[in-house]
Amino acid sequence: MTDIATPASPDRSALVLFSGGQDSATCLAWALQHHDRVETVGFDYGQRHHVEMAARGRVRDGLAEAFPDWGNRLGEDFVVDLAGYGAIAESALTADRAIEMQANGLPSTFVPGRNLVFLTVASALAYRRGHTVLVGGMCETDFSGYPDCRRATLDAMQTTLGLGLDSPVEIATPLMHLDKAATWALADTLGGPDLTALIEEESHTCYRGERGQRHDWGYGCGNCPACELRARGHAAWKATVSA
Ligand code: ZN
Repeated sequence: MTDIATPASPDRSALVLFSGGQDSATCLAWALQHHDRVETVGFDYGQRHHVEMAARGRVRDGLAEAFPDWGNRLGEDFVVDLAGYGAIAESALTADRAIEMQANGLPSTFVPGRNLVFLTVASALAYRRGHTVLVGGMCETDFSGYPDCRRATLDAMQTTLGLGLDSPVEIATPLMHLDKAATWALADTLGGPDLTALIEEESHTCYRGERGQRHDWGYGCGNCPACELRARGHAAWKATVSA
């Protein structure tokens, strides 16, 4: 990990929880548009596929190259090893299990406590780096009903972290009430075709980690829940653009 002792400018700065997927890529662009100094953090918790982790660097580099103003604001990237948590949280994302619906109504891709752990670790890094704003791509509109993606959970978490650090913490969730089509539209608003093309080409969402086939919405197996959501949203967004 890079030296975390040097604080960034405390003014208008943000730390983006950045996985390399469509949602967090859009959040990173949003943060670069709204903040003067932006850093990113990713979590390696033993995902079966490191494809998404590899996408992080390409999205960051692509953003900095295509949007020089954003590139000037884009600071350090941090990757935190959470393999121990991944071993506890085993799910279809981190272990070799089928992607299916469980008896409790949650898909087997649900990783219990994931966003709570990520936000706690991110808040510690943000504290050290002088950020009070955490930006995350959590969304309660169409994201499989994960309970730790709900705004009510994040409001409670924001309060808890602020009290526990004795320092204000804001959890910004620009995608919270957007569906996937609206998330594509937001990327279009933020960065136009250069940004949507970058997200299509370089961001990674597929649960199975496949990057063999290029669809108009990007790479992926095309039939896991994440691919289906991304493909459906992309088609709905394209329909509104061409209408
Ligand atoms: Zn897939």
